[in-house]
Formats: sequence, C-alpha cells, structure tokens
Amino acid sequence: MGIVMSHMTLALDLEGVLITNAISQLPRPGLMSFLNECEILFGHEHICIFTTVNEKRFRDIARKLVSDELAPKWFTEIRYIEWVGEHKDLRFVDDDIDNVIILDDYPPYIKQTQKHRLIQVNQYLDPYTHAMPDMSDREFERLIEELKRFLSV
Ligand SMILES: [Mg+2]
Repeated sequence: MGIVMSHMTLALDLEGVLITNAISQLPRPGLMSFLNECEILFGHEHICIFTTVNEKRFRDIARKLVSDELAPKWFTEIRYIEWVGEHKDLRFVDDDIDNVIILDDYPPYIKQTQKHRLIQVNQYLDPYTHAMPDMSDREFERLIEELKRFLSV
C-alpha cells in the first residue's frame, strides 16, 4: 500500500471539522473512529490541533468529548498549535511544511503557497434550532480515504 507511519504530522481544525463549533460542541458523526484511524495512520504524538479556539477552551471541549466517550483519551493531551497572523501558517507546525497535512473547512486560512498540504473539509454545521444534528454526515469516511491517498504518494 505504501502507507508509512512517518514523520508526517496531521493538523486538525476543530470547528466545522471535528465538531460544529465551540458553543454547541456537537461532534461530527464517527468522531471516535475517525480519531482512532488517524492515530493508526500518524500516531497520536503526530496529530495536533490548529484552531482559532484558544487553548483553555479547546482543552475543556476535549475533556468533555473524552468523558462522553466521543473521543479517545489521548485527545485531551494533543499538541496545541500557538499561532499569530491571518493565516494558519504550517511552519508553526513543522519547519518543513511538506511534512504537514492540514484538514480545514475554511481554505482562506491556508496560505496560497501551502494549499497543496490542505485537505478541504465539508463544513459540519450547527443545526437550526430544534433540528437534530446531521447524523447522515459521512465526511470522516471520505477524509480517511483522502488521507490514505495523500500518504501513499
Ligand atoms: Mg473551521
């Protein structure tokens, strides 16, 4: 297959990707399996969170997801990327941006020169009031296939 448990680092956006947003915090369907599969592909020490949500808030959300058994235990201790500026510059993750893959639902955050490291995610949206979250969402399954393809080139 040519899939390597490599030096690659996976950077995950939070809002619109793993959960709806930091307010409603609804997990995308399949979050636990997705994170487990990411761990198989990258190792959890090579998975980081790259979000506009501040670290304290992210840790609170992560602990809640873990205690609700919606995310694996290691998720609370995942590396948090501190960043400044108008872009999520992948050099905050690794000096060599070709060692980074970022999953994000908002492409404008990614620098034009780094777009080849982006796997764009279909935004997971907050449901309208009284509506149930979209449980038919299968984006994580597609993303795992994309990641495998990315890693095998
Ligand atoms: Mg987002």
